[in-house]
Amino acid sequence: MKYDLVVIGAGIQGAGVAQAAAAAGYTVLVLEQSSPAAGTSSKSSKLIHGGLRYLESCQFGLVRESLRERAILLRLAPDLVKLQSLHIPVYKNAKRSPCTIRAGLSLYSLLSGFDSNAMFRSLPKSQWGNLDDLKQDDLEAVFRYSEAQTDDAALTRAVLHSAMELGADCEIPGHFVKAHINSQSCLVEFESEYGFKTVSCRVLVNCAGPWVSDVISGIEPDMYLPKVDLVQGSHLILPPLLRNYFYLEAPQDKRAVFALPWQGKLMIGTTEKMHYGAPEKAQCSIEERDYLLGVLQYYFPQLSIDMNHVDSFAGLRVLPRSDKSAFSRTREVLFEVDNEARPRFISVMGGKLTTYRATALMALAKVKASLPTKERIADTSQIPLSPVDWH
Ligand SMILES: Cc1cc2nc3c(=O)[nH]c(=O)nc-3n(C[C@H](O)[C@H](O)[C@H](O)COP(=O)(O)OP(=O)(O)OC[C@H]3O[C@@H](n4cnc5c(N)ncnc54)[C@H](O)[C@@H]3O)c2cc1C
Repeated sequence: MKYDLVVIGAGIQGAGVAQAAAAAGYTVLVLEQSSPAAGTSSKSSKLIHGGLRYLESCQFGLVRESLRERAILLRLAPDLVKLQSLHIPVYKNAKRSPCTIRAGLSLYSLLSGFDSNAMFRSLPKSQWGNLDDLKQDDLEAVFRYSEAQTDDAALTRAVLHSAMELGADCEIPGHFVKAHINSQSCLVEFESEYGFKTVSCRVLVNCAGPWVSDVISGIEPDMYLPKVDLVQGSHLILPPLLRNYFYLEAPQDKRAVFALPWQGKLMIGTTEKMHYGAPEKAQCSIEERDYLLGVLQYYFPQLSIDMNHVDSFAGLRVLPRSDKSAFSRTREVLFEVDNEARPRFISVMGGKLTTYRATALMALAKVKASLPTKERIADTSQIPLSPVDWH
């Protein structure tokens, strides 16, 4: 069987590329070794957000694109992506003053084109006491603005389902083993429930998330291994201790940490810890757990936390290798193409859940030269997405 594209990985990026490719009229096969969203795409902070904090590192393009994609997803997937009010409490000795936060939120609103969902306000002092026993000492201001929350795994399944409705084939479980690439096509070998199979395609798309380098190692002839780090981010899941959504500055190191009600529980995260070794070994460490509990206890000293009911999960970011701290490295998606003029193999690394649709369109544009002319059958900015049962 010859496909236009074979996509490795059914995380959000693989599902997104498959949907965009099928909508553009191409034939597509998705290989997923485990289940949809088995990797990072079920372990994110579950926000469809503009990324307010990226303004600090001047990633204006990313923020503008994220806000645009957030607006599209709120329209396309109302059952999967819902707006919530986040609160940013600002204290006397905080790294970011009330003026800085106000300026950031104003810029955020500007970059959204003054979308009504990107407006903010400063809460009057009389309302601070209603915020779940939030620490009031040295509190100088509380800002309220909106972000969207999702179920990341459910969103990924919905996008993959949409790709299949547009004609994409899926092999799940289908473990990519190796590929031989020449100037004409790619011969791809994978293992399914029924043994080893080989298919050919014009373009092979590597959306293997933290397994990106393992996949590249299976390509013949040898490919350049991109210089990336795997940075673990952990979250804790606790009983529903808070009713409101908070965006906090960790007292330990001034990083941004979210404390968000989610599916009847409280989710708090995230951390940053270099990960070495197999991606499937990622798990929340005791230090990360203590760090997150420390943030929660600092802002909500009256909370009593039953340690028998603290759960956790850990995901891996794929970030460009650098001497900078993980927190200040770019969150832009990274692409690596084998040959700009006649691309046969592309790796899609990192990026954001929020911008998967825009990322998929960029990935397709990069490999277009090797694809035939096809008639578009749909536009992904117009396809509604709903939760699906996945068996
Ligand atoms: C802690 C954390 C919090 C985050 N929070 C947010 C957030 O709130 N909002 C946001 O927009 N973004 C967020 N992100 C970013 C976002 O979650 C990721 O960019 C995104 O999920 C990456 O998706 P992916 O498809 O590239 O990778 P993955 O989801 O990891 O998918 C890769 C898939 O490839 C499969 N695979 C691997 N090897 C093979 C093989 N050989 N054969 C077949 N299949 C294979 C895996 O099983 C897996 O399903 C966060 C990331 C982290 C780590």
